[in-house]
Amino acid sequence: MERSLILCKPDCMEKNLAGEVIARFEKAGLRLVAAKMLRLTPALLDEHYSHLKDKPFFPEIVTFMSSRPVLALILEGDQAVGRVRDLLGPTDSRKAAKGTIRGDLGTSNMLNIAHASDSVENAALEVRRFFRADEIPS
Ligand code: ADP
Repeated sequence: MERSLILCKPDCMEKNLAGEVIARFEKAGLRLVAAKMLRLTPALLDEHYSHLKDKPFFPEIVTFMSSRPVLALILEGDQAVGRVRDLLGPTDSRKAAKGTIRGDLGTSNMLNIAHASDSVENAALEVRRFFRADEIPS
């Protein structure tokens, strides 16, 4: 069993698509183990997107991701990390296949509906980044 950390991004929340995104994960057999709304701070985004700090679009990501509250989820299942990424599709929504979350609901490279952990190691880090232990019911 693996866990993956998902963020339903501001574009998802603005379009009222969080339920649709959760439904797609649930229909694929992934189980919701924790959820909360939060507003991402620039400090948290600096940490979360530290691999993109040198990119010219980094300030835009911080502005976009902190523009309204997001929904953070922990999903659990067999090979959850890879399966969630497959359901999501590639970063650029315009290049994502129809049938994927980003391909069907996203609009661009930045406005791509959701974040999902890209490895089991990062998933463990990201779960701790966004959830305190007492926010994950046993
Ligand atoms: P992913 O979210 O698919 O794991 P990355 O970690 O590379 O992708 O990028 C993090 C986020 O930064 C993306 O989801 C997207 O919102 C934004 N982003 C990535 N590349 C670009 C780009 N070329 N232009 C604008 N925004 C981008």
